[in-house]
Amino acid sequence: MLPLVALVGRPNVGKSTLFNALTRSRDALVHDEPGVTRDRHYGVCRREGMRPFGLVDTGGLSGEEEGLAGATARQARAAVEEAELVLFVVDGREGPSSLDEEILAWLRRSGRGFFLVVNKTDGIDIAAALAEYARFGATKVIPVAAAHQRGVPELIDAIVPEL
Ligand code: GDP
Ligand code: MG
Repeated sequence: MLPLVALVGRPNVGKSTLFNALTRSRDALVHDEPGVTRDRHYGVCRREGMRPFGLVDTGGLSGEEEGLAGATARQARAAVEEAELVLFVVDGREGPSSLDEEILAWLRRSGRGFFLVVNKTDGIDIAAALAEYARFGATKVIPVAAAHQRGVPELIDAIVPEL
């Protein structure tokens, strides 16, 4: 069994984009499991000379099920519980939203440490974006632009020693 890393975060912050950047694919490694694990996508991050790790994109905090209620909450909770490391993904262009705060409170209650991945940092003042999230108390804060593969090697370098 590979160690598992969970991606959590509100809709539209770029979790799936980051998942694809880390797994470098949308192929058979990325699949839905209808029913039991709806909206949970598993993949593997492999790089030359590095021990591979598994990834799960919880992806379910969306639409009418927005918020941490019901089936989606169970999804995300299960992913977090089975994961070695949680990546809390936020949008560096927007700053903290109420749903980010909700997820933060939930992570704190779970007692899990997490890395904060600040995405969409392309073309913005990165230091200012990171400062908005300083109070979140993440173990590490890593700026990325998943859509452009920026920061992704650094993120992997941060993840691997934690597993
Ligand atoms: P998810 O709902 O968290 O899985 O988010 P998605 O991966 O579906 O991305 C939501 C939107 O953000 C899409 O339109 C992406 O193209 C966009 N996006 C993702 N990563 C980046 C990034 O690094 N920079 C910018 N500017 N947009 C991004
Ligand atoms: Mg998604």
